[in-house]
Amino acid sequence: MAEETNHRSITESAGRAKQKVLIVDDQPLNLAFAAAEIEDICDPIQAYSGEQALKLAGIEQPDLILLDVQMPGMTGFEVCRLLKQNCQTAEIPVIFLTCMDEEADEEQGLNLGAIDYIAKPFSPAILRARVRNHLLIQRQRMQLERLAQCDGLTGVANRRSFDQVLNAEWQRLAGIKEPPGLLMIDVDLFKGFNDHYGHLAGDQTLQKVATTINRQMQRAHDLACRYGGEEFACILPHADQGGAKDIAESIRSAILDLRIQHAPSPVSDWVTVSIGAVSIVPTIDKAPDTLISQTDQCLYQAKTGGRNQVNPG
Ligand SMILES: [Mg+2]
Repeated sequence: MAEETNHRSITESAGRAKQKVLIVDDQPLNLAFAAAEIEDICDPIQAYSGEQALKLAGIEQPDLILLDVQMPGMTGFEVCRLLKQNCQTAEIPVIFLTCMDEEADEEQGLNLGAIDYIAKPFSPAILRARVRNHLLIQRQRMQLERLAQCDGLTGVANRRSFDQVLNAEWQRLAGIKEPPGLLMIDVDLFKGFNDHYGHLAGDQTLQKVATTINRQMQRAHDLACRYGGEEFACILPHADQGGAKDIAESIRSAILDLRIQHAPSPVSDWVTVSIGAVSIVPTIDKAPDTLISQTDQCLYQAKTGGRNQVNPG
């Protein structure tokens, strides 16, 4: 589930619904009051206990948590500590709501990873202003995270997210004995293209190639990445050898169909790509590097074999 969110977040637009705020308080009146105060700036979710808060935080993935400190059973401090220990909830910002206003408590809360502290009884205006500010920061943080996963020139996933996603998929698929397919794609004679047409035209070509590759990623978990320079890679979870080869072939012909002139190329009048396409079932004892180097080898053979072709393993 977490993987799915990550994959999608790379390519999906930033547009999204109202941000969610989880409010945790053992007093129903406090909960209703806080929710009513902020419901026009966010989508409030209510929890009456620490246990319920932990459960809802995992399911709802709120953008912010307002957490009462004094609750029977699990205290807010304990809830915060558990939230920060769980990788699914560790990044969600927490604000403590409490009537204890001693410095030591505030310090303890902040040390546990809370970003702010609001003393009860709070004024509605202060609550709204703080929530609004923190939601804005959270939205900007998510945008930065998305940008950090994207290649600046082409907008597809970058090398960093390629490494992360391939590693995660490798582990996941090893567990269910299913293969990932991998494509390594190289724009043929790209140095010659740049020398002839200039780097600006080269950049535009890389953008068109990236967009075209991305368009062929039609299944939910397929991911196109810029691997480096004029090289792209596609991670294709659950694609067997035949499936990987078919997707590679559709990419190769779609690039040719762009009809981007490439005068110095001896291969074709147009820009073409060579593709290595490999699918293997991972085992935990092997690293995904095995798949990368096999696919790289196939790409090399596609190039030495005359370019503008797919070489399956
Ligand atoms: Mg309380």
